[in-house]
Amino acid sequence: MKCIYLDHSATTPVEPEVVTAMSPYFHVHFGNPSSLYSIAEVSRNAMEESRSTIASFIGANASEIFFTSGGTESDNQAILTTARRQKNKGQHIITSSIEHHAVLHAFQQLEKEGFQVTYLPVDSNGIVHPETLQKAMTPTTTLVSIMHANNEVGTIQDIPALAKIAHAQGALFHTDAVQAIGKVPLDVQTLDVDLLSSSAHKLYGPKGVGFLYAKKGTPFSTFLYGGGQEKKKRPGTENVPGIVGFAKAIEIAKNRFEEDHQHLQNLATFLTEGIQSSVSDVVFTGHPTLRTPGHVSVCFKYIEGESILMMLDSFGICVSSGSACTSGSLDASHVLLAMGLDSATAQGSIRFSMGRMNTMDDMKAVIEVLPGIVEKLRKMSPLC
Ligand code: PLP
Repeated sequence: MKCIYLDHSATTPVEPEVVTAMSPYFHVHFGNPSSLYSIAEVSRNAMEESRSTIASFIGANASEIFFTSGGTESDNQAILTTARRQKNKGQHIITSSIEHHAVLHAFQQLEKEGFQVTYLPVDSNGIVHPETLQKAMTPTTTLVSIMHANNEVGTIQDIPALAKIAHAQGALFHTDAVQAIGKVPLDVQTLDVDLLSSSAHKLYGPKGVGFLYAKKGTPFSTFLYGGGQEKKKRPGTENVPGIVGFAKAIEIAKNRFEEDHQHLQNLATFLTEGIQSSVSDVVFTGHPTLRTPGHVSVCFKYIEGESILMMLDSFGICVSSGSACTSGSLDASHVLLAMGLDSATAQGSIRFSMGRMNTMDDMKAVIEVLPGIVEKLRKMSPLC
C-alpha cells in the first residue's frame, strides 16, 4: 500500500540532497569541531559555513546563531534564562494561550518559581490581537513570547506589531518560529525580535538539531553546564552532520520558496474544497488567509479525530489529530479550546499538513475515502 504522508507539521522526510551533504561528516570529516588537528578544522569550517548560511537566510549575523538540539531546547533556553536573568527588573511575563508545550510548559515552570504569567487569549481564528498584548503589559513585564505560526491550525501572527508593543515597555520579545521557517518569509530585522527558535526537522532537515537566534546584547544564558561551545552559551559537542544538514535544507527551501509556496497553496485549496463539498458538519479552523501554506485543519462534528486518524491510516494516509505532540491523549486541543470551540467539536479535529512531495492525486485519494469514513463513524456515534 502506498503511504500518503500528510503530517509535515509533525516532521518531514529528510531531502536526499540533505542526506548527501551530511554523510561525510559522519565518517570522513568526523572530527570534533573543538579539536585542533586538521580533520577537526574541516568539521569546524563546515559548521561555521552552515552558521553563516542560516544567519543570512533569516537576516541575522552568524554570531547571533546558537546551535541547539531543536525547537524545544531553543524555546526553553530563550524563555527560562531571559526571565530568570531579569528577575530583579520584574517578574511579569507574557505568552499566548495557543503556544506549543515547549513554550507553555516553560512558562508554567517559571510560574512555579514565583513569576506572574499572563496567557493572552486569541480570537476565533487564533490571532493574538496587539491591543490585547498592549493591555496586558505592565512596568514589570520583562519578556513576551508569541509563536510565529501555530502548529495545530497554521495561523500566522503579526509579530512586528506585537514585538513593537513589548519593546515600547522595555520587554524582550521571543518567537517560536519552528513552524514558520521555510514556509513564510522570515527576517529577524523585519520581525524585530530579540530571540527566535527554530528546528531542522520541519523543513526536510534532520531531527535533533535547531538553533536559537539571539540578537546581539540580549541577556540570555546557558542552562546546561559543561564545555565552552557556542560561545559558552550551549555546552556539548555540536551535532556537525545535523548542522550541515540544516543549512542544506535551508538552502533548498530558499531556492524553492515560490514553487513550494504555490504548490502547497494549491494542494490545500483543493483539499479544503473537496472536504467542503463532500462532508457535512465540518468546521475549518485557523485563519482563512493568514496561515502557513499547505495546512488544512478541520473538525468533523459528532466523531473523534483519533478514530478518523486510525481509519485513514488503514488506507495508508498519515494525518494527525490536533497536534502530534498531544496525540495519544484524548483531551481536546488547548489551541482549539482557546479559539472558542466547544470541547466536543474540538475532539473531532484533524490536521492535514502537506509537503513538497505531495501531489493532487494524494488529495484526490483523501477525498475519495474521507466521506465514507466520516459516515461510518457517525453511524456509530452516540452524538448523531
Ligand atoms: N514549537 C513548535 C511550534 C512545534 O511545532 C514544535 C514541534 O512540533 C516544537 C516547538 C518542538 O520542536 P522540536 O521537535 O525540534 O523539539
